[in-house]
Amino acid sequence: MKLKELPEVFKAALPVLERLENGGFEAYFVGGSVRDILLGRHIHDVDIATSAYPEEVKKLFDKTIDTGIQHGTVTVLYDGESYEITTFRTESGYQDFRRPDHVTFVQNLDEDLKRRDFTINALAMNTQGEIIDLFNGLEDLENKVIRAVGDAETRFHEDALRMMRAVRFMSQLKFNLEEKTEQAISDNHQLLQKISVERVRDEFVKMGLGPNARKAFDVFLKTHLSEDVPEFAGKRDLLEIFPKLKFSPTMETSLWSIVIILLKIQNNQIASFMKKWKNSNAMTNQVEQIIACFDLLADRVPSDYEIFKVGKQVLFNTIDVANILGQPINSNALIDRYFALPIKSNDELVIDGRFLIEKGINPGPKLGETLDKVKKEVVSGNLRNSQDAISEYLESL
Ligand code: ATP
Ligand code: MG
Repeated sequence: MKLKELPEVFKAALPVLERLENGGFEAYFVGGSVRDILLGRHIHDVDIATSAYPEEVKKLFDKTIDTGIQHGTVTVLYDGESYEITTFRTESGYQDFRRPDHVTFVQNLDEDLKRRDFTINALAMNTQGEIIDLFNGLEDLENKVIRAVGDAETRFHEDALRMMRAVRFMSQLKFNLEEKTEQAISDNHQLLQKISVERVRDEFVKMGLGPNARKAFDVFLKTHLSEDVPEFAGKRDLLEIFPKLKFSPTMETSLWSIVIILLKIQNNQIASFMKKWKNSNAMTNQVEQIIACFDLLADRVPSDYEIFKVGKQVLFNTIDVANILGQPINSNALIDRYFALPIKSNDELVIDGRFLIEKGINPGPKLGETLDKVKKEVVSGNLRNSQDAISEYLESL
C-alpha cells in the first residue's frame, strides 16, 4: 500500500528522513503516527526509526538533544519541529516482566518492528509513502482489531504494561481486542503487578478518557486486569457500573471522582486512595473538592453562598460527574444560579481587610468574620457590592 499524498506533518519531516538516507542510512516513519494517519486521526508526534546509530544521527544534524541515548533515541530539532529518531533495535532480557534490561541495536527494520506491541503499532512508512506491513497491521486496522505482534502470551511476559496498553488503545481507537490477545491477558493479568504504578496509571487514565472507555473498562474487568491495579481488587461488583454509565468522562478529575464514588470510598480515605495511584497532590485536592460538592448537591439544594464557595471550576466539574453518574440534579438551574451570583470570586468584592481596618475593625479573628459576613450578604444579594452600601452595613452591625 502506498499513500498518494503525505499529510503536512510528514511532509515537514521528509527532509529529516532524506538527510538520513543521503547519509547512507535507512529511515522510516514508525509507530503511532503511521497508524494514526491511516485512521485519519490527529497526529501529535512523528516518530522516526533509522539504521544510523545515535552518534551518527548527531553528526548529521546541527541541533540535537540526547533524549535517551542508551535506548537509541536522539531528538532532532529541525525547522522549528522536534523529531524523536530511534536506532533500529531489539529489546532483550525482560527479566522481570517490565522494560528490557538492555537494547540491542540492529541493522534492519524488520527486527525493530517485531519488538513492537500490536500489529497496528508495527507499521512503518518510507519517504515514498509506502507502508511496510509485516504483521498484517493494515488488515487489523481495517477490521479495528488490537492484536499482539507474534505470540501474545510471550509478549505480555516480556512487558506486562502491554496488557494495559491493549485496553487503552481499545478505548482510544474504538477497536476490539483479538480473541487470543484477550485470552493472554486473562491468563496473565497478575503480571501487571510488576509494573510501576505511574505507568499503569497513565494507561488507565488514557483508557478511562477514550471515546470507547466503557467498553474498554468492561474488558479491563472481564480479563481481571482490574484485580492488579491499586485498590481495585475484589471490587469488581462496584466497578461494573462503569461500563453501564450513560457516557464516559472526558476530564481526568471526573474519571477519578467517578471511580471513587463507585468504590464507595469514604471522604477521609480519598487522599490515601489517590496516593496509592501516585496521583499528584493537586489532582487529589481537586477530586476531594468535587466529591465534597457532589455530597452537598446530593444532600440539599445549595445556598447562593455555598455555590459561590464551591466556585466555577469545581461546580461545573461536579455537574459533569453527576450527569455521567445519572444523578438527578438540576444542572441548568445550578449553572444559571452560578452566573446570576452578584460576585463570583473573592476579588470581585469591592472591599478587603484593609478597608475594614480603616473602618475601625482591629486585625484579628473579628476581621475575618466580618469580611465573611459582608461577602455572604453580597453573594446572597442582600447587600450591594459598593463601598458606600458596605460602609452603611458595617455601621449597622
Ligand atoms: P500515542 O498516540 O499514545 O503516542 P503510540 O502508539 O505512539 O500512541 P507510544 O507509547 O508513543 O504509543 O509508543 C510509540 C511506539 O513504540 C508504539 O506505536 C509501539 O510501536 C512502540 N511501543 C511503545 N510502547 C511499547 C511497549 N510497551 N512494547 C512494545 N512496543 C511499544
Ligand atoms: Mg506516540
